[in-house]
Parts: sequence; structure tokens; C-alpha cells
Amino acid sequence: MNIVLLGAPGAGKGTVAQELVAEFGFAHISTGDLLRAAVKSGSDLGVKAKSYMDAGELVPDQLVIDLVKERLAADDAQKGFILDGFPRNTVQAVTLDSELGAMGNPLDAALLIDVDAKVIIDRLSARRACRACGYTGTAADEVCPKCGGEMYQRDDDKPETIANRLDVYEKNTSPLVEYYRGQGRLDVVDGVGTIEEVHDRVKEALHL
Ligand code: AMP
Repeated sequence: MNIVLLGAPGAGKGTVAQELVAEFGFAHISTGDLLRAAVKSGSDLGVKAKSYMDAGELVPDQLVIDLVKERLAADDAQKGFILDGFPRNTVQAVTLDSELGAMGNPLDAALLIDVDAKVIIDRLSARRACRACGYTGTAADEVCPKCGGEMYQRDDDKPETIANRLDVYEKNTSPLVEYYRGQGRLDVVDGVGTIEEVHDRVKEALHL
């Protein structure tokens, strides 16, 4: 099954994806994770992307599109994938449709994880990530509960950047809800609840 996850930063797309991957083995394609890895490695792409990411702005389309195209062509993506954080605007969505059409591997669903803006701000401010394994936890996790690694706060989860990321989401990404609704491919789940509750809703919505 090929799925696009939609939702504001902090809606829980990464966690929803991790649960689906654990149960069904889909390939998890997170452009945020791919870009953070590029920044860490100091590659050309990482150097170009860093200033946009630090400011909470979108990285230029062509850089992200090239990254996603390469990842979609990998073997594991042929058995089903979850796109998390891509597309982020209409240009990316249209490009994705035409790429997947050309590959004969179209999308099955776009799933919106719906969470109120107030909850999003609280979640992003408290979010911490594991430097070693990428696990997403909260400020209450002194070390990573999965691997014991060091937990840190993403630079773009600091208050000054959060507001800009939410603006960028409203302006660029939220119109995609109507884009996919218009294609009859949109499913919506309430993203407030425990990981298990949200996972059960996701499976029901996707008929998994
Ligand atoms: P995320 O982890 O999905 O919140 O992404 C972190 C940051 O990476 C975003 O604030 C953007 O700067 C950049 N980014 C991730 N995905 C995309 C995308 N599809 N298009 C442009 N920039 C992106």
C-alpha cells in the first residue's frame, strides 16, 4: 500500500509511520529525516538545506523532489511506502503524482492526522528526539527509552521557529487536504490519543 501522511508539524506523522512500518513493513520515507541525515553528513545537499531548515522554511522543491525520486526507486519502496513530510506543497504533490504514474506505482491514500493547533504547539515545545536512533519522545525522557541514546531538542522545535513552521504549513501544505479530497483519496483520523488508539484509527481508515 502506498500512503501519503498529511498533518501539521507535531501532528504525529512520524509516530503513525513507525507503527505502520512495525506492523506491515512498509518503507518509511521521511523527507525531514533524510534532510537531517544530509545535514549531519555535511553533503552538498545538507549544506544547501540547512539554512532553510533552521529557519523553519521549506527547502527548495527540486532538492527534495530529487531526494524522494531516488528513494522511491529503491527496492523496499516497491512493496509499499509511507511518505512522511512529502509533499509539502502543490508543486510537490503534482510532481509526485506524475512520477508515481510513470513508475506504475500510484498512491492508494492520503491520510490526514488531524490535531488542534493548541495541542500542536504544546507537543512541539515538549518534543525531544534520540540522536542515535531517531526515536521521538518528550522532555520527560532523560535518555532514549528504546536505545539509551542521548535525547535532544531539534533546533526547529524551539519557540521562535515553531510559529514560522506552523505558518508555512498553513500557507503551503494545508491546501493539499483539498487537493487529495478532490481526487477522492483523502482519509482523516483524529490524532489525539495514545499511540495505540491513533494506530487503531489509522488501520480502520486505511482498511488494514
Ligand atoms: P519535518 O521533520 O518533516 O518537520 O521537516 C523538517 C524540515 O525539513 C522542514 O521544516 C523543512 O525545512 C524541511 N523539509 C522536510 N520535508 C520537506 C519538503 N517536502 N519540502 C521542503 N522542505 C522540507
